[in-house]
Amino acid sequence: MSTETAQDDLRGYRGISREVLARDGIRVWSEVRAKTKQGQFEGLVLPRSETADELHIVLKLDSGYNIGLAADQIESLEEVGRREAQYKIPEKKFPYSAGKPRVKLFGTGGTIASRLDYRTGAVIPAFSPGELYGSVPELADICNLETEKLYGIFSENMGPEQWIGVAQACAAEIEKGIDGIVIGHGTDTMHHTAAALSFMLQNPPVPIVMVGSQRSSDRPSSDATLNLIHATYTAARSDIAEIVVCMFGPTSDDYGLLHRGTRVRKMHSSYRSTFRTIGDRPLATVEREKITILNPGYHQRCPRGESNLALNAAFDDRVSLVYYYPGMKPDVIESLVDNGYRGIVFAGTGLGHVNRAVYPAIEKAREAGVASYMTVQTIWGYTQMYVYETGREIMGLGVEPIANMLPEVAYVKLGWALGQTDDLGEIKKIMQTPINGDITEREPPDGYLVYQGGLPEIEEFMRRVHR
Ligand code: ASP
Repeated sequence: MSTETAQDDLRGYRGISREVLARDGIRVWSEVRAKTKQGQFEGLVLPRSETADELHIVLKLDSGYNIGLAADQIESLEEVGRREAQYKIPEKKFPYSAGKPRVKLFGTGGTIASRLDYRTGAVIPAFSPGELYGSVPELADICNLETEKLYGIFSENMGPEQWIGVAQACAAEIEKGIDGIVIGHGTDTMHHTAAALSFMLQNPPVPIVMVGSQRSSDRPSSDATLNLIHATYTAARSDIAEIVVCMFGPTSDDYGLLHRGTRVRKMHSSYRSTFRTIGDRPLATVEREKITILNPGYHQRCPRGESNLALNAAFDDRVSLVYYYPGMKPDVIESLVDNGYRGIVFAGTGLGHVNRAVYPAIEKAREAGVASYMTVQTIWGYTQMYVYETGREIMGLGVEPIANMLPEVAYVKLGWALGQTDDLGEIKKIMQTPINGDITEREPPDGYLVYQGGLPEIEEFMRRVHR
């Protein structure tokens, strides 16, 4: 049986790591100066995961990163402080002020809704919307905020069931006359959910703003607060009545960008400026309480009390996104057909290609009535399947090119279309009819580089041009 209790000062530590901590009188949540054979380190002793080895002591450095010190390399540990209270964020009821717009904040989970788990030292989704307000009181200057936790999950666990749940929750709020909606969401699949909501909630009368954070709020470089302020301001005050993603623009905290829900993609695994509008300009920049439109063709906010919202929360999850790789064998496609899948989106090479080896399987899919569509894994640009003979052959097997729709967006749209009808002709019509910018006529050449920041010289160029 474990020697620890929940109140144990050495939570999670066993064996040699426990002995070293006890020897020097150090507890979990002590700030320590550690002298080791590899040099000196300062940081906060985190609880150790119960499943982790007994050889290391985990320190959270001031940079926010965690490191493991090998216990047998530690010469001495000196306690220089205690910091536990920092992790306790009070839940506060939002103050009401007459005359301010009403915004609803839905929590679904992700890093933006996370804090450090005392038991394991891991980041866990346990941060309620009320706690979010407790840590960002500026939100009260912008609006009257109501909060509701719909889910508390990391975004890899969001899927069709949750997309439908969020769409229905937004529609219910719109019905009650809300002035704007913010959805806190993990960043990893925020663009999938943004696409799903763009199809399921058409013509919203108010902004529906998705927001997340790349760095959790216990880290000094967290983007959670600024993203939340930008998103809440956008929901409360902007004229853009669309599903948008609001996240850091450049790597600095100069401004946020508003990206259309069907054209946005997470493009970097760790940068705060990870979201990019693909194949178009972002809709706008947002700097605390100022919105600057970059792309004027957006759907505008309706006068209060009016709404043409069309809620269509359908989805058939027998749909797959197949990212082609050289050497792919036909059994990958065949297994989808054999398992009753009704739709396949390919992310093909270049202009939209897959190898000849899979052609018979694609043919088999067509014979089974599977709807197949082609997108490009280059992400930027259009499918152009008339250029090479191979493209024409693939189309001849029943795969429809889908212009510059992003692969993830095509996957979501196909599941949404299949949820509405069995008729392949009808599905093709839905897929090829642009909805909320999922297909655009052309790409502006300045979309990515000039308007989305990121490099100091580009930022400087923008400052000079827009002076
Ligand atoms: N894994 C997290 C999620 O998507 C990452 C984040 O929120 O940024 O839920």
